[in-house]
Amino acid sequence: MRPMKSKPPMQQAGHILKDVFGFDEFRHNQGEVIETLIDGGDALILMPTGGGKSLCYQIPALVREGVGIVVSPLIALMQDQVDALRQLGISAAFLNSSLDARSRRRVEQDLLDGALSLLYVAPERLLMPQMLSILDRVEVALFAIDEAHCVSQWGHDFRKDYQQLSVLHERYPQVPRVALTATADTRTRREIIEQLDLHRAGQFISSFDRPNIRYAIGEAVNAKSQLWDFLEREHRDDAGIVYCLSRKRVDEVADWLCDKGRIALPYHAGLSQEERRLSQQRFLREDGMIIVATIAFGMGIDKPDVRFVVHLNLPKSMEAYYQETGRAGRDGEPADAWMLYGLQDLITLRQFVLDTDAEEKFKRVAHQKLESLLGLCDLIGCRRQALLAYFGESREEPCGNCDNCLRPPQTWDASEYARMALSCVYRTGQGFGVNYLIDVLRGKADDRIRRNGHDRVSTFGIGKEQSAVQWRSLFRQLISQGFLDLDSGGFGALCLNGKCRPLLRGETGLQLRQQKPREKQAKKREKKKPIQTRNQGLFDALRELRTEIAREQGVPPYIIFHDKTLNEMAEQQPVTLEQMRGINGVGEQKLQRYGERFLGLLCGQSPTGLDHGPEAENPVSLTVFQPDTEQ
Ligand code: ADP
Ligand code: ZN
Repeated sequence: MRPMKSKPPMQQAGHILKDVFGFDEFRHNQGEVIETLIDGGDALILMPTGGGKSLCYQIPALVREGVGIVVSPLIALMQDQVDALRQLGISAAFLNSSLDARSRRRVEQDLLDGALSLLYVAPERLLMPQMLSILDRVEVALFAIDEAHCVSQWGHDFRKDYQQLSVLHERYPQVPRVALTATADTRTRREIIEQLDLHRAGQFISSFDRPNIRYAIGEAVNAKSQLWDFLEREHRDDAGIVYCLSRKRVDEVADWLCDKGRIALPYHAGLSQEERRLSQQRFLREDGMIIVATIAFGMGIDKPDVRFVVHLNLPKSMEAYYQETGRAGRDGEPADAWMLYGLQDLITLRQFVLDTDAEEKFKRVAHQKLESLLGLCDLIGCRRQALLAYFGESREEPCGNCDNCLRPPQTWDASEYARMALSCVYRTGQGFGVNYLIDVLRGKADDRIRRNGHDRVSTFGIGKEQSAVQWRSLFRQLISQGFLDLDSGGFGALCLNGKCRPLLRGETGLQLRQQKPREKQAKKREKKKPIQTRNQGLFDALRELRTEIAREQGVPPYIIFHDKTLNEMAEQQPVTLEQMRGINGVGEQKLQRYGERFLGLLCGQSPTGLDHGPEAENPVSLTVFQPDTEQ
């Protein structure tokens, strides 16, 4: 589909946004980026996941003469990206190692014929002399360098090929280039500019906030049943990811969820490549699927309607937490980032830092990163403010969309119990782990304790009225706040940190967050489900129709329509194609292809028991819209 080239370029861009993509307005600074590129300038774009980076190069590629070349390392995603564009009526293709020679030649011929608007290509393929010589002969609208942080030697995704992409500028100085990434830090940004020679590029930096993600962090008491309550309460039919630390735990949680009646698939490095590929494919193509995974899962997952990301263990750092939770809600609809953590996580991660044979400098950094994360967990204020502050962004007001904002945590004066715990560590000689210490505090005179003579220390049995769970919570917070250290011996023994002296002497007190009552409150709270329409039944029916069409076409359902679009349909219940066109995410092509089928459902063969209001009686007006001839 080629727009008319006569209109002013930004007006064309606006029409493409509406007619091709079906969106009403630009998000973030999409408009400015698009204008820069159309005018022939270079751009560097930093936008969070789900911010809408793709439109930034797709629209200018359609407005400018020639083909837009998109460089991406994520070859597994190219098929879906191209399918999505074709659904919109845009002629797109990809070139990577997965194509056989014949398909490759066909794409190259299309390229030479000027038949493509967008071409996705892997960096190593683009840099081949044969490919460059083809590019010499065609008109190129722009180069988009996606995942541009891959040029960074220090990042985890470094690609050598990416550093050679500066050749594009040398060889095609007239062609605008846009580099895109969701990695925020300034060092990476500097490297991208340096390596790709983008010194004169406009920089477009968006806030890294993901306002539609609701952050919640709680203490694990009975993790599985807490998880089940959460899923039942908030996400009965939604797709999501559950992260666990070990493979064994992944298998166990996936099995357990299946027993409870959800469809949950395991994903970890212990499975064969084929098993992993199948799990990933089902996750993308079927509705309401849960993936239970170690962190091996996620890179290159572009599913827009992941409604929750659960952590059943602490991630390694704030960076990891933000990246993993960022896979939720890419479509901008409400999503949950929900984490449980416990004492054992803390001990495991602390031990992990202690045990690495890395040099001191590295250990210190790893230690600080863990501390920041623990700070986030035990925080009493707004989680989003803390998260953004960690990434160098300050936010004036609390967000109103995290657990602490929604239900300010209660604090309690833990000074007395903290003193008991600390002196118990001291009296028993600073050589024992949490469980042992709790037994002493609660006065359990078993053989081991008697043998050690710890049934005779002054702290024996002084904490009977606190349950073991309450003591564990207290110990966890004493460790996370640095009053207690883990002994480097590797057996989880605790010793006192100098920091606890004023507390032990009674010079300072200690306020801690109340953990238990909040859990109960959480159960009671009335909260609407994320994708809650006034018409859940109709929404489900629309979703079924979408699945049916997606199956016919062999694409993931979200490529047909996003949840957000179905949600709007269920709310507004359009009865004519013209009304349907007003729905967010319905462009001309999709209106032509699927408009009538969805109207059929909305107007007539709707599931029983649905109230469609007075308009439901109206006949479907198919005359309003005159489809163009196929191009
Ligand atoms: P990113 O690459 O930055 O993670 P995408 O380009 O995949 O994000 O866009 C995320 C989602 O937002 C997509 O589903 C896209 O269709 C949608 N989107 C992008 N721009 C707009 C807009 N201006 N209005 C509405 N939806 C948009
Ligand atoms: Zn908040």
